[in-house]
Amino acid sequence: MKCLLLIASVVVAVAAHGGHDHSHSHNQSEKSDQLRAIVKLEEPNGGKVRGNVTFVQDANGKVHIQGVIVGMPEGEYGFHIYEKGDVTGGCGSNGGHFNPDNKEHGHPHDEERHAGDLGNVVFNKDQVANVDFWDHVIKLSGPYSIVGRAIVLHSMADDYGKTEHPDSKTTGNAGDHVACGVIGYW
Ligand code: ZN
Repeated sequence: MKCLLLIASVVVAVAAHGGHDHSHSHNQSEKSDQLRAIVKLEEPNGGKVRGNVTFVQDANGKVHIQGVIVGMPEGEYGFHIYEKGDVTGGCGSNGGHFNPDNKEHGHPHDEERHAGDLGNVVFNKDQVANVDFWDHVIKLSGPYSIVGRAIVLHSMADDYGKTEHPDSKTTGNAGDHVACGVIGYW
């Protein structure tokens, strides 16, 4: 019995030491002034649309979005952050566009936009989209953080809330959810 107690106290000491190391490495990552996140987009049921996209927040709070998505015919397709990171029902169970300010759907450069409105991505004739743009609304921490939320690639182009279609002001009438993934820290 005495021996068991000794082992237990050694385990506690190791755990406490591990926790200390963790906070040390967290301080180091803060010094770099960059938060980083990543998402793997996949089409449910083994479809061919897939990609990886990274998000890097600079010291001024702007986020650089970069990556490659493949598998869609040449054209433009809506690309949006959804409120919830729920992909248990495929790509369709993520709530609405991430919208912490209760605004209407819009173009990424509009004042009136959902935080999650990242506009369209463009696929070339080889069915490749090279994603490379910046956004000043989404963040990787705080109330506008996209981490833990889903990103969705749609079946149609986002109309930026500019048409008379009844869905224009809520979703940009961008059609079905083709591929998606949950954004995590990188
Ligand atoms: Zn929207």
